[in-house]
Amino acid sequence: MKYKAPRGTHDIFGAQAEKINKLEQTSRQVFRKYNYGEIRLPTFEAAELFSRSIGETTDIVEKEMYVFSDRKGRQLALRPEGTASVVRAYLENKLEQNLPLAKLYYIGSMFRYERPQAGRYREFFQIGAEYFNNPSPAADAEILLLTKDILETYGLKDLSIHVNTLGCLKCRPKYKDEIKKYLKNEKDLCEDCKRRIDKNPLRVLDCKKDSQKINNLPKIQEYLCDDCNNHFNDVQDLLKQADCSYIIDHNLVRGLDYYTKTVFEVRSAGLGAQDALAAGGRYDNLIKHLGGNDTPAVGFALGSERVMLAADNLKLSEKTIKNKIILVAVVNKDLSKNAFNLVAKLRKNLDEGSSLAVEGPFSEKSLKSQLRLADRLNAAKVVIFGEEEYARGNVILRDMSSQSQQEVNIAEIEKLIFKS
Ligand code: ATP
Ligand code: MG
Repeated sequence: MKYKAPRGTHDIFGAQAEKINKLEQTSRQVFRKYNYGEIRLPTFEAAELFSRSIGETTDIVEKEMYVFSDRKGRQLALRPEGTASVVRAYLENKLEQNLPLAKLYYIGSMFRYERPQAGRYREFFQIGAEYFNNPSPAADAEILLLTKDILETYGLKDLSIHVNTLGCLKCRPKYKDEIKKYLKNEKDLCEDCKRRIDKNPLRVLDCKKDSQKINNLPKIQEYLCDDCNNHFNDVQDLLKQADCSYIIDHNLVRGLDYYTKTVFEVRSAGLGAQDALAAGGRYDNLIKHLGGNDTPAVGFALGSERVMLAADNLKLSEKTIKNKIILVAVVNKDLSKNAFNLVAKLRKNLDEGSSLAVEGPFSEKSLKSQLRLADRLNAAKVVIFGEEEYARGNVILRDMSSQSQQEVNIAEIEKLIFKS
């Protein structure tokens, strides 16, 4: 075989495609309940949009971005995440004035040059949402409950929700300085962390390699200003009122620089190292940083492949709703146009949202192999066009589970199929 999908990409078909569709459908339903509207974004943007918003010293910008120049020498990047693009679109389309409420969701693939492994790809799908211009802790709680609602509606259980606060530009610098002092005394940090002590010391907190060494660092809670402290307490009160249990996790800092105040991550047991299904938080400075007005915002993104892996662990995939198939077959080629006609008519008259699919006819195949196909497709019923029956205005309706069949009038067929 000459061609292979590029390393870290994967084809999604069959049961996997059903599963990801179901997840996307579920998400759209939940987004509708929470009043989020869809935004479709470009797959590539100016590379600088990402480096400026995600942060120069983050993993994504330092080593994971697919950057290329186009034929006119513009520096572009395949999007590694959605938030920067939504913010760009919010500013470019003046959504602050043009939408009564800017609550947007997106579904699409993201690109990161990472070492491929289970639950980690170079092209993967995310579903995410952003809520602009609401500084209230209620917006943080809404985004968190929305994330949880999507995952639970899809069927996941035993989620653990980790929350933390990163403070704001008023209180975080003091904490950063304190952390820096501690880290300077720490001898054997990994190379990445050593390099980051000066520029991005908080990232050391969620370094997987160094997590054991940094357990006794000072906690940000002791450094928060009143505003951030109250905000974090209010978010927690709202979550408690909504019966949403959570874990306060002082080491949760997230890999992107733009977060302020609340950050969270939803994890699922049993997924090994790639246990983060979704993550998000507040980013009150990003919009101004990208040239807009001072606009608070909060958002989240979930990784579709990881959610599907978690669903596999629960054997949820076996429960995915499958279309019931009606196969129309012919005994000989002469009746193939009549059979085709019935297929077209049945498809046209199916109710929207019906779980029936109509298939056939395969007039080049023998009846035997058409019936074998019906078996392999798990068809519920087969309509067989036979010469003698057709001459009487009839067809044969075969029930695949009971293996019984009856001769019925063609005019009756629609009623018989649709009612069952
Ligand atoms: P991780 O710590 O696992 O690298 P992250 O912090 O880089 O995750 P985010 O940028 O917050 O992840 O993205 C949100 C979600 O997208 C993650 O929780 C995860 O489910 C998913 N995700 C991130 N990177 C990948 C990837 N390379 N392949 C598949 N899913 C991913
Ligand atoms: Mg990552």
